[in-house]
Amino acid sequence: MSDCLFCKIIAGEIPSSKVYEDELCYAFNDIAPQAPTHFLVIPKAHIGSAAEVCAENSAVVAHIFEVIAKVTKEMGIESYRIVSNIGEQAGQTVPHLHFHVLAGRDMTWPPG
Ligand code: 5GP
Ligand code: ZN
Repeated sequence: MSDCLFCKIIAGEIPSSKVYEDELCYAFNDIAPQAPTHFLVIPKAHIGSAAEVCAENSAVVAHIFEVIAKVTKEMGIESYRIVSNIGEQAGQTVPHLHFHVLAGRDMTWPPG
């Protein structure tokens, strides 16, 4: 999607700090980290949010969770939080599916 911030990051049109990349997904550090470790994992194919996940595109979500398990293990991170905001009220600001991976500090539950 030409007008999408995260599609532009995938295309290299906007610089980012890469954490991991393969043919299906891209992971990069969040520009405004909310924890000592805070990176985002996104599918390379544009999906607006988790609300648009369906039979045709859901395989990438399983793949992203495999990637998160692998990358956090490699980083030596044992405890972390995965967050995906859907829609404005939940705090979604970029309309391209992304999973926040947060670690390195105590976290509250329930979230604010
Ligand atoms: P959301 O609010 O949609 O759940 O998450 C969007 C995230 O993208 C936010 O945590 C925000 O800091 C991050 N973000 C927004 N613009 C950029 C950018 O240009 N580069 C990077 N690395 N992160 C961004
Ligand atoms: Zn996009």
